[in-house]
Amino acid sequence: MCENSTRIICPVCGEIDKSLVEIYNISLRKQDFALSPVLPTCRQCNSEIEIADPPKGAELIILNGTCGSGKSTVAEEIMKRYGFAVIDGDCMLQVLRCRLGGRKAEYNSDEALDEIGREIDVLAALGYPIVLSHIILPKDWCRYKEIFLKRRLKYSHFLLKPDIDAAISRCNTRTCHKSVTPEYWIRYFDESLLFNGSADVFTIDNTDLTVDETVMKIMETHQRI
Ligand SMILES: [Zn+2]
Repeated sequence: MCENSTRIICPVCGEIDKSLVEIYNISLRKQDFALSPVLPTCRQCNSEIEIADPPKGAELIILNGTCGSGKSTVAEEIMKRYGFAVIDGDCMLQVLRCRLGGRKAEYNSDEALDEIGREIDVLAALGYPIVLSHIILPKDWCRYKEIFLKRRLKYSHFLLKPDIDAAISRCNTRTCHKSVTPEYWIRYFDESLLFNGSADVFTIDNTDLTVDETVMKIMETHQRI
């Protein structure tokens, strides 16, 4: 491990202490959404900070599942209760859009994966265990795994798979997003998210579980890893 060589660099102020880092960018946050985009800046000058020699071996919980499966709600709860920092897929795309001058990137593009890697490095350098709440298709899983293995993350991967009707009704009733996710997409992701035979993905049917029960189940499994 080379954790001692990790440095937080502000392009204006030079090397800075982690207490001077503002992790989230609130102005990029979606209305009424509890999770914020990770875009760390220096509190002294507002420049985006960089990480030199990010640490290896950070802790990561991956929450996968279709829209309305409860990823964000569960992520928020793990953040509040256990002090994890959250990388939310939607928030990550907001940051990326800002970086790309307004151009939209796909949720599973190389640019998106690079951004996730960058956010993991920052949060790990600041000493956080991390939750990644994101839709990861089986065909893309290897690409994500590469990012995690490269950083020697201690990760566990959970697929939240409630009844499709429960997911659809959650998407239709929740107020945190301005636009409702089309049913077509909810079904598409639900049907695509099958990790049959993949021993390293834990599927949780949370149709009849409270957020509390889901969180307990995840933390119990994660702590065994
Ligand atoms: Zn600065």
